[in-house]
Formats: sequence, C-alpha cells, structure tokens
Amino acid sequence: MAHHERRAEYRIHNSSMIHEILPVGPLQCNCSIFGDQATGEAIVIDPGDEIGRIEGILEKHHLRVKAIVVTHAHIDHIGGAQQLKALTGAPVYMNANDQELYDHIDTQAQWLQVAAPQKTGIDVNAREGESVTVGPSESPVEFYVLDTPGHTQGSISLWIPAENKLVAGDTLFRDSIGRTDLPGGNSRQILRSIHDKLLPLDDTVVVIPGHGPNTTIGRERRRNPFLQSL
Ligand SMILES: [Zn+2]
Repeated sequence: MAHHERRAEYRIHNSSMIHEILPVGPLQCNCSIFGDQATGEAIVIDPGDEIGRIEGILEKHHLRVKAIVVTHAHIDHIGGAQQLKALTGAPVYMNANDQELYDHIDTQAQWLQVAAPQKTGIDVNAREGESVTVGPSESPVEFYVLDTPGHTQGSISLWIPAENKLVAGDTLFRDSIGRTDLPGGNSRQILRSIHDKLLPLDDTVVVIPGHGPNTTIGRERRRNPFLQSL
C-alpha cells in the first residue's frame, strides 16, 4: 500500500502537464485544456462555447495554443472553434467524416434555439494515425487520435499514454454512451468503436467524457450497463 502511494506521488511530481476541464455552454460540454509548463504549449479540445473563459485559463498559465481539436461536429463541441482559432492562430483538427454535419451547423443551432456560430475551415483531418505533440522535443506528450464513429460518423477520441488519460468526446460517459438517434448516429457502430478502440485500454485509464464527471475504463467495463453485452 505504502509502495503504491509513493508511486502515485512520484507520478504527480514528474508531470508538468496542466489539465483543466471547463464545462462550457448551455449543454455543459467538457472543454479540456492541456498545457505543458516547460514550453507553454497547449492543446484545447472541444471549445464549444465561452471562449473568454478558455482564454482566461490560457492567460493564467501563460499558455500558447498549438492545436484546437474537435472530437465531433456537434455545436456544443465545435461552436467556439472559429473564435478560438481567430484568437490564437492555431490549426483546427476534426475528422473529415463530420464535415457534412459541420456544414449544417445552422440546423443544429435551430434545434437548440441558439444563434448559429461562425464556421471555420478545418486545417487537419483528424483520423487514426494522426497525433498532436505537446511539450519539449526530448520528452513530448503525444495525443493520439482514435477513430470512434457511432455518435457521429466523424467522432474521435484522444488517447494520451503519458498522462494515462482518454478524452472520449460523446462516445463514452460515466454509466452511459453517446446518443445515436441524431443524423449520422449508428448504435451498432458506437458499441463496436468502444469494444475495439476503448476497452483494450487499461482499467486505470482516466476517461474524460464530453459531458459529466470523469470515470475510468475499469469502472465502465464493470458497471456501464451499455457495455455488459460486449
Ligand atoms: Zn455530441
């Protein structure tokens, strides 16, 4: 037990990675801001709304955004991407299979009865094999794209081995999975994505879902009712 505690402490002291999770907008999308203290490089995942608050966190830690990553093109995850890109000049990563959904963001805004956000060009097609690197070149932290379609056709998750974390977008939640009844959704496909891409990860991996509290792969493997038949 004492040995285990010492190991946990060691890991905390050796991590220079800032990670702030900010629920933004009316649907409280979890925006993740990862920042490397040594280089000041940051990656912002799912800047759905409230760009001013995101900017405040970046300024507080003296961070410079290197990449904006969108897990999928639903308005609550992508709504602030244009504004954040204009502010930082950072490239936007999104899976091209969600381009059509993004093209119709005005329709999504109507469903939510909110104003349609300005759209931005997508700079990098975020698909499996692609990664974003943050931190010093001698010990970079890699954010690997995993293709996890099903909630939408272009849904991705980000796997960060150095942090033992998974940013899951709306694919996996604590006790639930993403809805598949919206355009582009496919219930068999989301389960296949979870089975093939997420469940192979270790039980200790911390999952940051697109909404709601964090969880772990192990907890969801044991208790998530949607995963028990997998
Ligand atoms: Zn969504």
